[in-house]
Amino acid sequence: MLTAIRKLGLGTNFKASFLFKLFPIPSSYSPSLSRPFHSNMPPRVVVTRRLPPTSQAALEKLDADIYQWQEDCAMPRETLLKEVKGAQGILCMLTDKVDDELLDSAGQQLKVVSTMSVGYDHVDMEAIKKRKLPLGYTPDVLTDATADLTALLTLSAARRIKESIDAVRNGEWREWRPNWLCGSQFTQKTLGVVGLGRIGEAVAHRLKAFGISQVLYSGRSEKPEASKRLQAQFVSFDELLAKSDYVIVCCALTKETKEMFNYDAFKKMKRSAVFVNSARGGIVQQDDLVRALEDDLIAAAGLDVTTPEPLPTTSKLLQLPNCIVVPHIGSATLETRDQMGLMAVKNLEAGIQDKALPTSVL
Ligand code: NAP
Repeated sequence: MLTAIRKLGLGTNFKASFLFKLFPIPSSYSPSLSRPFHSNMPPRVVVTRRLPPTSQAALEKLDADIYQWQEDCAMPRETLLKEVKGAQGILCMLTDKVDDELLDSAGQQLKVVSTMSVGYDHVDMEAIKKRKLPLGYTPDVLTDATADLTALLTLSAARRIKESIDAVRNGEWREWRPNWLCGSQFTQKTLGVVGLGRIGEAVAHRLKAFGISQVLYSGRSEKPEASKRLQAQFVSFDELLAKSDYVIVCCALTKETKEMFNYDAFKKMKRSAVFVNSARGGIVQQDDLVRALEDDLIAAAGLDVTTPEPLPTTSKLLQLPNCIVVPHIGSATLETRDQMGLMAVKNLEAGIQDKALPTSVL
């Protein structure tokens, strides 16, 4: 069965074959799960995906018995549950659910979970806490890449880039027309950031360079230092919705933020407002967003994250001319992904060696 999956992954996917040519699989590779890189049976670790080149090289240097899924797709759950038995470390992605079932399958010898992401809404924190496991994650290194993408989505949605590209493709581009495809400008406008954390602040700095005159933010607590740097004002969620020309979602997905953007929230926004979400799809009630765009409650939306992911090609969001969707590529620069991978490997290594993790949630 694993061999069959491997053939599918490498035989029929041109992009995957191309990538594997660029970054060849080491000679130690054998079927979809490669094992082991060392023969003296050091601690077993399970890695749910092949990592970017530099971090993959660092992983292979670990003194560990490495079980790694080699395909360019998520490790099947049943394979993960089977292979994790007896592991001391797990290096996972945001697509791998870490819950009681997985941690029970691993067993009591498990010492560390390291996720190659800053968001950890795929991890059941209660399950981690009750086992007193450290959880490694990858903050900071992806802030710039994700903020760039968020700013790009904001600019693209504001300037109707999806409609513009479609118009060129569909032969609708005629002579220059004064009233055609006009979007909104940033000069003298108000930006509202929901969740002024690392990425939220970095997005605000970028968009201020385009002429934003006022930055508002909402969240659980005031951020005095970031407020000072941005000359930003801490306001209630409702005030932010009512006053912002651009509403950017940069908070974590939690019980409190789940579907906080529903029809009521969109109704409180300006009809000219642009809504951007690069945090997590679950923060938005997606059917309500579709209705809000259809009912012209807001002007446009830009999304890097959706529910589910991947978004089915039949999704109404994709048919709306004023909604731009990209496939969760916030952190997708070569440099950032390698840094994320390296951090995840370092956290894994520290955990299996009973050392404090360099970057941990817990
Ligand atoms: P961060 O520094 O922890 O920022 C998250 C912010 O959300 C914090 O300021 C936090 O405030 C705030 N927050 C928490 N609960 C809130 C609530 N109920 N309402 C409003 N704000 C709330 O994290 P980050 O590094 O900026 O990353 C933010 C999120 O972006 C991640 O959790 C992840 O889901 C997402 N992300 C997406 C991509 C992508 O590829 N699209 C890449 C990286 C990250 P407190 O400090 O008061 O809790």
